[in-house]
Amino acid sequence: MSIVAQIHHFQLERSSSSLADNPLVLVGGQQVRKPVGSHVLQDKVEEFRALCWALYAPPQETALQYNPANFKLDRIMDLFLISHKYRLESLQTFATQLLVHHCSPPYTTCRTPELEKILRLAVLNKALPLIKVAEEALLRRIEEDPLGSISMARLITLAEELGMRKLQGKLYYHELVRDEASTLKIPSSTAYNFPCAENLTEKQTSVLFKGYRSLLRYWRHLPGEAREKKVSKLTSCKNHQICQREWDSAWSVETLKDRDSFPPNLDILASLEKIRTSRPNSLNQTPLFSFGITRAITPAPNTSATPVPISTFPLPNAQPQPWMQPCGEKELNDLVKRLQDTLADHFLGSHVPSA
Ligand SMILES: [Zn+2]
Repeated sequence: MSIVAQIHHFQLERSSSSLADNPLVLVGGQQVRKPVGSHVLQDKVEEFRALCWALYAPPQETALQYNPANFKLDRIMDLFLISHKYRLESLQTFATQLLVHHCSPPYTTCRTPELEKILRLAVLNKALPLIKVAEEALLRRIEEDPLGSISMARLITLAEELGMRKLQGKLYYHELVRDEASTLKIPSSTAYNFPCAENLTEKQTSVLFKGYRSLLRYWRHLPGEAREKKVSKLTSCKNHQICQREWDSAWSVETLKDRDSFPPNLDILASLEKIRTSRPNSLNQTPLFSFGITRAITPAPNTSATPVPISTFPLPNAQPQPWMQPCGEKELNDLVKRLQDTLADHFLGSHVPSA
């Protein structure tokens, strides 16, 4: 059965910057300024319906799609596909904006399987803003799911199918550092079960274990390497000795002893964040040079230049702030970024294909 459809040329013109060579308006190789008639298109009926809806629905009806109760995901995904295929830019922008609107955390209205469908659609069509937002929404979803009702095995398989190496790294990392609440002690044994991880495939379990060993080794070596590091001097820095002293204190054996020297569940990123936001006790006890300006300390008004730890003036609901001089802070930020950028390598091995 075939469906004969006619679309007004001016409707298409409104949706595209150029209709030259567009299969929607070509008949027998000739561009014609008349409705589509004898030209047979291979699109799915649903996709063509979505196109007609977007071209002819009154604005108040299309605007209703921003309302979660009225949102028709399949129709908008079909519209995205057909407008992408025929380069109808304004319709594709409309479909993309709608999908981004319903995906964006923290107010994501799509269900997890819908987010997975959107991510697949976005990657296969190289829709970068949509890829970013769908990925963020999925990661946020699993962060809000400590007991593992979302299938991590399925998500990892999806990331693998789509060639999203970095996402795979993030998913494995999340599985590794998942909350203690998801572990179960085996009765009358010293061992634990990890019910969430039991759904992983054999290959995924072995990848997880490889990542665990690699991150463990990284963390064991990191403090020693950091202690030997000379912090790079920024051009704006007036007293670099302070930067180096802060850095050395942050990584000293004593400071690491004060903190959790071993990050719970090997959550190294959380441990680095703690270093970034918690000033070592040794620095709080030792007055700094009066000309050392730090953002984490506030001199008491009209008394002396002796620095006062910020904890003396707790602010209600204050978020922990970075405390190092910009040189040390940059060094630490670079270190965190390098770990984030290469997180997948811990689980999946070297990114460089072997010769
Ligand atoms: Zn400096």
